[in-house]
This record gives sequence, C-alpha cells and structure tokens, in this order.
Amino acid sequence: MLINKNKAVKLINLLNNSIKNPKTSLKYRNKFTLLTSVVLSAQCTDVNVNNVTKNIYKKYYTPKHFVNLGINKIKNLIKSIGLFNNKAKNLYYLSKILLEKYKSKVPGKFEELISLPGVGRKTANVILNAAFGKPTIAVDTHVFRVSIRTGLSNGKKPEQVETQLLNILPKKYIKKAHHLILLHGRYICKAKNPLCKNCVINKICLYKEKR
Ligand code: SF4
Repeated sequence: MLINKNKAVKLINLLNNSIKNPKTSLKYRNKFTLLTSVVLSAQCTDVNVNNVTKNIYKKYYTPKHFVNLGINKIKNLIKSIGLFNNKAKNLYYLSKILLEKYKSKVPGKFEELISLPGVGRKTANVILNAAFGKPTIAVDTHVFRVSIRTGLSNGKKPEQVETQLLNILPKKYIKKAHHLILLHGRYICKAKNPLCKNCVINKICLYKEKR
C-alpha cells in the first residue's frame, strides 16, 4: 500500500519541522573531498570515514595529491575503512580521470559522475545535491527502508524508490528529502528497533509492525 500525495506532503512537513539543519554528517573541504568521502562511506559509517579523513584532508585534498600518493599509499591511509583495497584503487583512478579529463574539477552531470570508478547512482545523486544544489534524492539503505515502511514507495530497487519519491514529494522538499528521510531512518526508524512511540510520522506511517 502507498500513502497518497496529501499524506506524503504532511509526512515530509512533519520531518522538516522535527529535524533541524538536515545535511550530510561527512566532513569535507571541497567538492573533490566530498566525492572521496562519499566513495569511502560505502558500507561504512560516516563517523568512521570522518575519523580517517580528518588527517588525510589536512595534506591531501586534490586529485593531483591522490594521484601523487599512488594506490599503495592511499591504501595505507584508509586501511581502517572496510573494503579499503577496492576503495583505494577507485580513489586513485577516479583522481587520475579528474586530473586528466576534467581539469581536476568534479563534473556536475549525472552521466559523467557515474562513469567514475566507485561512483554509482547513489553517490552521484549525493554529489549533485550537496555540491551542486540539484534536486536529487539519493536512496541509501535508510532512505529505502523508511520509504517502504511508511508507504512513500513500494519499489523493489533503489532506483524505483527514487522515482516514486521524486513523483510524490513536493518540489520544494526534494533537495532536502534525502537528508530528512535518512536522518529519520538513522535515529528513529532504525532497522531493528524502530522507535515508533517517539516518531512524529507515526499516524501516517503504514508499517504493519509499528509499535
Ligand atoms: S512509525 Fe515506526 S516504522 Fe513508521 S516511520 Fe515511525 S519509526 Fe518508522
């Protein structure tokens, strides 16, 4: 079952009223380091990523810096992050492409972003939204779960959820929606024990197992 557009508007209004300053908790110093942090955050918490990058970004914060480091040194710098072998390779080749093809700038088009190593649909949408101010919705595990439980979406895949959210939510909230829904999922509508008693959208939510 899906909730109707009126309820979706009410839901996003309630989240907007209850969550102050919704934005990414990743720390970065420019578009490039936002991109590297989002790549590093795959299957890893933002807190972990920030702990590692706070030292890296003091010295290394451009594609040229990462290319000069080379894969092995990048590996060494990020070795406390899950999947560091693959992530180090992705960061190196991604930096090389930015340096050689994009004059060290992070491109602002979806197709260009997803052609970079380690950058999928979700990462591209985060970058377009946070770095370029575009009205995109990145569907991560939290956004997916909350959208399905509440009845904002019945999609089977993140891309379907993304399309349904873009259709049902009012335009003025699209840019914020990713963070509002994500933060609600991270702190209230948790995967194992959703805090339904403290949930501001409890009356709208269609989740059968809500408490
Ligand atoms: S009522 Fe429960 S399941 Fe529904 S959104 Fe709130 S926390 Fe999640």
